[in-house]
Amino acid sequence: MPTAQGELKHRAKYVFVTGGVLSSVGKGAITASTGKILQARGFTAAAVKIDPYINFDAGLMNPYMHGEVFVTEDGGEVDLDLGHYERFLDVNLSKLNNITTGQVYWKVIKRERRGEYLGKCVQIIPHITDEIKRRIRLVGESARVDVVLVEVGGTVGDIEGLPFLEAIRQMRLEEGEGNAIFIHVALVPILDVTGEFKTKALQHSVQELRRIGIQPDIIVARSPKPIDEEARRKIALYGNVPAQAVFTSYNVDCLYELPVILDKQGFGDYIVSKLGLAPNPPRWESWTSIVESFKKPRGEVKIALCGKYTKLADSYISINEALKHAGAAIGVQVKAEFIEAEEFEEEPSKLERLEAFDGVMVLPGFGPRGTEGKIMAAGYSRERGIPYLGICFGMQLAVVEFARNVAGLKEAHSTEINPHTPHPVIDLLPEQAGVNRMGGTMRLGAQASILEPGTLAYRLYNQPVVFERHRHRYEVNPAYWSLLQRKGLVFSGYSPDKRRVEFIELPNHPFYLGTQAHPEFRSRPGKPSPVYLGFIKACWERKLQSPKES
Ligand code: GLN
Repeated sequence: MPTAQGELKHRAKYVFVTGGVLSSVGKGAITASTGKILQARGFTAAAVKIDPYINFDAGLMNPYMHGEVFVTEDGGEVDLDLGHYERFLDVNLSKLNNITTGQVYWKVIKRERRGEYLGKCVQIIPHITDEIKRRIRLVGESARVDVVLVEVGGTVGDIEGLPFLEAIRQMRLEEGEGNAIFIHVALVPILDVTGEFKTKALQHSVQELRRIGIQPDIIVARSPKPIDEEARRKIALYGNVPAQAVFTSYNVDCLYELPVILDKQGFGDYIVSKLGLAPNPPRWESWTSIVESFKKPRGEVKIALCGKYTKLADSYISINEALKHAGAAIGVQVKAEFIEAEEFEEEPSKLERLEAFDGVMVLPGFGPRGTEGKIMAAGYSRERGIPYLGICFGMQLAVVEFARNVAGLKEAHSTEINPHTPHPVIDLLPEQAGVNRMGGTMRLGAQASILEPGTLAYRLYNQPVVFERHRHRYEVNPAYWSLLQRKGLVFSGYSPDKRRVEFIELPNHPFYLGTQAHPEFRSRPGKPSPVYLGFIKACWERKLQSPKES
């Protein structure tokens, strides 16, 4: 049986980030910013997200409740915070970087069934906590970085988070003080009547942490505005930390500015001294120039995002960020607006709303709700020459629209939506036929596409082979390829074996592109996805050619 320590060759230091008062206080961005601050000082960093839920991974979780499912290079379907980490740190993380209760128990129970615990009573402490520690250290070892950031999801006080907090408490003891530190992030609201910063809830959350044996080294107050001296003094006193260990993360226009804002408060120097790392001066030039590119745009483009999980902005966070990265690269601000595609079905005249936009996207998705509306949006963009970008489902539905309205297959559909369609232009991937377990069984992760010279896709990437991340079960049915091509649909990228279509486009259109992939997952600030960049450029050009009233 592996011990809690394992046989580790590389020794990383650990920064544990916990959250208090309520969830969604931006712990992910603070964790990512901490990594960036370390990188700016020449240290390497990786980040781990702990999700104390029982689900094995995020793959089967509804984006409505939980936000987007992020996809890693190695095909992990993970928490959206890994997207923050990748975008801030400009690193590719693995599915190992998202630890859930489900994975931990799964592993321990499998071991127990194999008889590996030799008759012992298997318990939360030490067996579950040992497995948690093993997983955290595995990241430190395999990524071979100086510092591993570990964000504990949820809020201190949650029952399901307790084994994880116990595990990180033990890790501090085992790693030693200078090798593991705790950052606690908690909400500090401002009372509107008096304008006062209220720190009591934060104090209680620190008390709760201390009750289980964790004394934070650093406290970050998440507040709409920078906290005042009085609030800082209280937080320090009741949180049992020196005043210089208290920082504020306040509302910012551009999230990527957060690392610099925290560092200006002395955050980086404090962490580095706590971890006993060399006091290298930070180098912010390249990051600051990226942040600046998001500011003072020369104009804006409006993009209609047609989908179904449109009520929660986090459902499509990587797409939103990819659009922003692309906009920043050409100095324009992207205003993306969600549109419930179902509205078009109820009232087709609402399609005219799309005229007010410079570009249209049909978002990735699953299941029937809103599908006809999305098909209508794809058709409207095709006919009106509005720049169109279809991601995964958005590409598949563009193919359905083309099949119906250009190739004359009136009842064409995807078998995902209508299994009995006479024209299954989008059909199950052959290898999916026998799959009956839903979790982790899609075509996932980075896959190669070979681009056809002379096409828009090739021009965008300017290279013949590209890797993008995937997450799908359906694809363009090869039985319809030649008909669709004869009618003018261009297949501009294929899988290396040429058995599946990866990119489609329409010539004689300002920009009409669909991809089976999700290029948004590889987009980074300062390094926009070529697909999104091309799309936003086309939208901006259209806007310049036909300025609309605003
Ligand atoms: N539901 C479609 C499929 O499984 C598209 C998935 C997606 O948009 N990610 O192929």
